[in-house]
Amino acid sequence: MAPPLSIATSTTVGETKHKPAEKRTRPGILSSARRRKTALLVPLLLKWFYTHARDLPWRRTRDPYAIWISEIMLQQTQVKTVLPFWQRWMQTFPNVHALAAADPERVLKLWEGLGYYTRARNLHAAAKIIVQKSGGEFPRDFAEVIALPGIGRYTAGAICSIAFNQPAPILDGNVIRVLTRVFGIRAPVRARRTTDRLWQLAEDLVQLAARANTSKHQRCSRLNQSLMELGALVCLPREPKCDVCPLAPHCVARQQGRIENLPNLAKRAPATARTFVAFVAQVDDYYLVRQRPAAGVNARLWEFPNQEVEAPFDAARIAARLFSMASARLEHLCQVRHTITRYRITVEFFRALFAIRPAILNEGPARWCRRAELVKLAFPSAHRRIADLL
Ligand code: SF4
Repeated sequence: MAPPLSIATSTTVGETKHKPAEKRTRPGILSSARRRKTALLVPLLLKWFYTHARDLPWRRTRDPYAIWISEIMLQQTQVKTVLPFWQRWMQTFPNVHALAAADPERVLKLWEGLGYYTRARNLHAAAKIIVQKSGGEFPRDFAEVIALPGIGRYTAGAICSIAFNQPAPILDGNVIRVLTRVFGIRAPVRARRTTDRLWQLAEDLVQLAARANTSKHQRCSRLNQSLMELGALVCLPREPKCDVCPLAPHCVARQQGRIENLPNLAKRAPATARTFVAFVAQVDDYYLVRQRPAAGVNARLWEFPNQEVEAPFDAARIAARLFSMASARLEHLCQVRHTITRYRITVEFFRALFAIRPAILNEGPARWCRRAELVKLAFPSAHRRIADLL
């Protein structure tokens, strides 16, 4: 068998639309110790961000549409991966109107390679709503922003603070790491009480930034981005760069030697292994692909005919069933492994050479395509890898 191809995908799940804590503590009623500490952190974070922030294209604009696209792309994906996708997207769909009017297949094709395709479908749906409701003008009100499809509390906070400089807090993995370490929070971060506490701290910080007595502009935007940036560049999951951290003198985890233990991430359930067999059915220069249903995982993406199997499996029997008993010459192409949310997926790809086109057991549309046409269709990552090898 050919050696496995590994596709690195994030296992982090997307944000939810849970509501902010009902009680919002205002700076005036913070405990005095916490108030003193947050008040010390704010100018340090702002100053550090002014001198250390990376020059990223979505930081050169305050266009809420451009910032929204970057925030959605950055979920579960690293900055260096997102950069070319964001640039291509902004060239193709430079504003809400262009996205709202786009063909759904074009939207998916442009997203191809970023994974979690629901994000692209939600962007498209939200753009249509913005055009219908406000003629394409992006909402400024937090409640209206969070009501849009695919936008949870984190993304709404990021858009409102970065684009409109509103004191809306943000909390993602990077911010959680910084806050749990600086404040020495030992409780499991997935517990609701801890999450509420962290949101409250994030809110305290951005509220204090809004009131800070400094000439610096865009303080809410920069305070939030400084937390994200510090988590991305300095307060790393392993071997954080405490020597260059502006918060080091105030960091409880550092003082108490507990950096390695924070944040307290309770162990996740082990991933479930799933195996699929996929067939690149070929007749002359044509390949058979089918489109996934309009709902569910990878909705409307194209793929090679496949089936989930229990190991060990008999590829010839599965091919016979999928292709209505037509006989084919099978040849193992490769194995692709990847992880999606809690599933560890292995796909065994086979080339199936037919003399004439077989019928296919299929619930959705199927097409015979030449290589040049395959390039234009949107595939999930594993199937795109194989299409590119043909
Ligand atoms: S001192 Fe170290 S552990 Fe503490 S916030 Fe800074 S980088 Fe993170």
